[in-house]
Amino acid sequence: MRLGIHMPLKGGFENNISRVKAIGCETVQLFPGNPTGWRLGAPDPDLLEKRASFLEEQQIYPLIVHSAYLINLASPSPDFLEKSKLLLQGTMERAAMYRSPYVVLHTGNHGGQGVDRGIAQIIEAIEAALPQWPPSVKLLLENTAGSGTALGSHLEELAAILKSFPPGTLGVCFDTAHAWAAGYDCGSREGIAALLDQFESKIGLEHLLAIHINDSKAALGSRVDRHEHIGRGAIGLEGFKALLHHHWPAGFPFILETPEIGTDWDRVNLETVRALLE
Ligand SMILES: [Zn+2]
Ligand SMILES: [Zn+2]
Repeated sequence: MRLGIHMPLKGGFENNISRVKAIGCETVQLFPGNPTGWRLGAPDPDLLEKRASFLEEQQIYPLIVHSAYLINLASPSPDFLEKSKLLLQGTMERAAMYRSPYVVLHTGNHGGQGVDRGIAQIIEAIEAALPQWPPSVKLLLENTAGSGTALGSHLEELAAILKSFPPGTLGVCFDTAHAWAAGYDCGSREGIAALLDQFESKIGLEHLLAIHINDSKAALGSRVDRHEHIGRGAIGLEGFKALLHHHWPAGFPFILETPEIGTDWDRVNLETVRALLE
């Protein structure tokens, strides 16, 4: 497995990569632009090529691109849906220029039109977009905390989307803080074993391609998305230890999205995870 962090927005690309490399990251996740804005701007292929080469030189891989939070393929608003599709397309193209294999997408919010309609709309949108996506980039659906009308907090909902496509078309990025808030007990060895069993039977562990390793400030089943430093939240170290010690494929990425990214907390959280691996 490979361990990394979500890259801060500030500080410049090469500085940030050098910094995460210095604290021992082997993989990294980034936003392709403003995570809360609709506009990605025109890509600069030369700049992205330079960044991709720099990552290669630094042996940081895989690069994971996290799409903007605004994208909602389950939106009941046609205008919002259209903008979401465009931004996702731009994100996939940018990921290809970065030579990133994965774009992570929050499953979506049905906005009152209901779970079934929301899921059907996500499937339709992906089906229509697939032929335009770069073949080197795979979309990973991220499980959510399930607040409001969020879809994808339960493995069954992710499975319904994944199983509408040939196996391997899409993958899953699993966030431990979101799972905890959605009611999956990942805080104990038994909880992790049960969770991985469920994942295997409902989706298939071969489709789990990245993990966001985050502790949670919120309680189990609270549906509240509040990340915490590893071992300092409600999930605690026992569950993380069990999760890390599962037999993951070579190169499998674990990304920290803990609070105060870009500060010395990154090193503290990385050290905590590494100590659990020993
Ligand atoms: Zn996310
Ligand atoms: Zn996440």
